[in-house]
Amino acid sequence: MTEKPANKEYKRTHMPGSSVESDPKRIAVIGGGASGLAAAHRLIELSIDGTTKFDVTLFESSDAPGGVAATRQIGDYLVETGPDMFITNQPAAVNLCQRMGLSDELIPTETEHRGSLVLRKGKPVRVPEGFMLISPARVWPVLTSRIFSPLGKLRMGLEYLLPRKKDQTDETLAGFVKRRFGSEAFDRLIQPLVGGIYTSDPEKLSLQATLPRFLEMEQKHRSLIIASRKQAAAQESDGSGARYGLFTAPRNGISVLFNRLMDVVREQAVVRLGEAVTAVSKQKTGRFAVTSQSGATDYFDGIVVALPAFHAAKILEPCITHRDETSLTESIQEITRLLNEIEYSSAAVVVSGHRLTDIEHPLDAFGLVVPAIENRKVLAISFTSRKFPGRAPEGRILLRTFVGGAMQPEMLDQSDDEITKTVHAELKSILGVNGEPDFIEVCRHERSMPQYHLGHCERVARIRELIEGIEGLELAGNAFSGVGIPDCISSGESAATRLAEQLAST
Ligand SMILES: Cc1cc2nc3c(=O)[nH]c(=O)nc-3n(C[C@H](O)[C@H](O)[C@H](O)COP(=O)(O)OP(=O)(O)OC[C@H]3O[C@@H](n4cnc5c(N)ncnc54)[C@H](O)[C@@H]3O)c2cc1C
Repeated sequence: MTEKPANKEYKRTHMPGSSVESDPKRIAVIGGGASGLAAAHRLIELSIDGTTKFDVTLFESSDAPGGVAATRQIGDYLVETGPDMFITNQPAAVNLCQRMGLSDELIPTETEHRGSLVLRKGKPVRVPEGFMLISPARVWPVLTSRIFSPLGKLRMGLEYLLPRKKDQTDETLAGFVKRRFGSEAFDRLIQPLVGGIYTSDPEKLSLQATLPRFLEMEQKHRSLIIASRKQAAAQESDGSGARYGLFTAPRNGISVLFNRLMDVVREQAVVRLGEAVTAVSKQKTGRFAVTSQSGATDYFDGIVVALPAFHAAKILEPCITHRDETSLTESIQEITRLLNEIEYSSAAVVVSGHRLTDIEHPLDAFGLVVPAIENRKVLAISFTSRKFPGRAPEGRILLRTFVGGAMQPEMLDQSDDEITKTVHAELKSILGVNGEPDFIEVCRHERSMPQYHLGHCERVARIRELIEGIEGLELAGNAFSGVGIPDCISSGESAATRLAEQLAST
């Protein structure tokens, strides 16, 4: 029945088709990013703790765990080429770290340079203190800010008096912000703050799918200013722009988390690194045949597909071949169509190391965001070694410059050399970065960031409804209910729990 392919990693002895004492259910997890690793890890936990045993196999197409997350040592710099921190008020990532004995490894952001800058007419200007992504929690810093004109400030202040939206229909993030705070607040600050996180076009983003808490704030408190002030008072929020006190990262980089997860998973599961899954099909027996790029096919009672939506759609398409099972065929057809409708943007992170003495700007913040109306070639610049210690040697600074995204997709058509030259010129013009960097490298993330456009919540709800009707199949990943690392961990763990419950009851 089952043929074992030549694996790069095959840590556990698995006798294909053999029946183990407790007759474990065989589960394949496809994708070894945050979502897939969390799913595999949760299945192992449930297998150890519960009465139903699971025999887990993890397929990952690349040679390393972590997906878009990767930490590299470049000379004396500790460089993140993807995510570099995660939020702690969504507990999934912190909880997982605790369960893996990594709590002591987590460090908070530095206190010295907390705050953000935004480019205004070519010059970096400080984001008003207490600004909570799209809403000010403090009035005075906005009134004294150089970002907004007097008229813009007046319009923002009107938010305090505006009624809440009557109907509950979804709207774009841009529409919401302009309705509440006016166009200037959107163009000058909120578009780059939000665009920097999602590498998106807020004119298309669904508010309900990306930042539902602001919708809830309006519904509950009417005014976002009132709601933000209450929230800030409660949390004693201490940052501006992003709430920096809420972020953390492992001392030695984000890969520590994913390498540890992989080590734990590997002890209990079969791990197939460097092995892309090419097709999944549901057999008449109810099991799933999983074919990988080596051509080998293996059989599982359940699968968690933890891939970007377009990859998930591609491997699920072969399920559409059972002509005698019309309802399954129709469901998979609709699922793959809906998955393919989720758009992705591409971005590149240009990492570079510099002597501090080569930079005219004091870099007295965690980073800078660039509004689209400034017409620059970069989206944001993170002053990475200002955020966490140990990222750059003494007297040096590690910068991460973001280019591309949904607003400037043409940037990714350029060669690495061209991108490097562009970024070099922008760094010089915006921050006064002179001299030759210690290093500069382009890290591309093609189709890495899902765009939660208007209609996303309905699309995801329909996908979930259809998946519920297919026994043994679960989807996880950043395509559905949040792109942050904690969201992805939650997504993987929830998919694993649902599948485990389902298989335990059959
Ligand atoms: C540049 C960048 C910066 C970010 N910064 C932050 C940040 O600071 N904080 C934060 O919380 N979030 C951040 N994010 C978001 C967050 O990192 C991602 O949403 C999250 O890591 C995605 O995890 P995932 O497992 O869902 O997907 P992925 O990481 O994309 O993992 C999917 C995995 O599936 C594998 N795969 C693909 N096809 C196949 C196949 N056919 N068979 C087997 N394997 C396959 C891929 O190799 C990959 O390893 C950032 C994202 C990017 C791109």
